[in-house]
Amino acid sequence: MSQQTMWPAGRESAACFTFDLDGEEVWIANLQAADRPGVLSQGTYGPKVAVPLILDILRRHQVAATFFVPGRVAERHPGAVRAILTDSHEIGYHGYTHRSPADLSAAEEESELVLGRRALEQLGAQLRGYRAPSWDTSERTVGLLAEHGFSYSSNLMDDIRPYQHPGTSLIELPVHWLLDDAAHFWFSLGNWDKTIRSAAEVRQLWSEEASGIAGLGGIAVWTFHPQVIGRPGRLRLLDELIGATVADSSVWVARADEVASAAALNEADPDRARSGRTS
Ligand SMILES: [Zn+2]
Repeated sequence: MSQQTMWPAGRESAACFTFDLDGEEVWIANLQAADRPGVLSQGTYGPKVAVPLILDILRRHQVAATFFVPGRVAERHPGAVRAILTDSHEIGYHGYTHRSPADLSAAEEESELVLGRRALEQLGAQLRGYRAPSWDTSERTVGLLAEHGFSYSSNLMDDIRPYQHPGTSLIELPVHWLLDDAAHFWFSLGNWDKTIRSAAEVRQLWSEEASGIAGLGGIAVWTFHPQVIGRPGRLRLLDELIGATVADSSVWVARADEVASAAALNEADPDRARSGRTS
């Protein structure tokens, strides 16, 4: 099957490695666990142990990635955010707390954005993109992001290629549970009926989906969580996956903001990619 490509010359598909650095905030938002050190420690593992190990893997493969971070995680773990920025990775906005916009009032959603942005920018981040906690956006989210000057959202599951939200300049970088480590590996208090899958099983699932997306000229927007993918056995899977992706010269590997910029140029001049121009 021959597909027109929207990717830079010579590339037939794309991949974007994104990490949602939730820290303790998932458990604070969903289980009201602020006073439960045992529960919170599951999240602390992310910035404390997993982030340095993930940064090592990315550095070894010379890959730039995107980390979406809640403002309160940045306030609690500024060293992790600084380390991410020092390695030239992108920081994106992931709420102030980890409450889903769908559960917030309009005023609360905007207040989260203002507070979250301030916490991240104080550490030197330049925010261009947004990943909603649990990808659970509200009907107001797209308009709010456009109003506050964001370039892209990475939350919806209705495509395998980036697209522009109608009436705005906001680009969507589509995601899916299949490419999310949490769907396969997440295990915590409150979901005892869910079994932890093996890395071998998930390797197979991911390989099938990445190959299918590449065959259709789409983008694999991987969504990882340091507290999940950062377990020692799974880091080997991450290492292999990144290694295999960068070894394939037909795949454009880029940060989310770079993909959004390319998609925006393509929207402005649809002949650009087809003619092989890259700027
Ligand atoms: Zn999250």
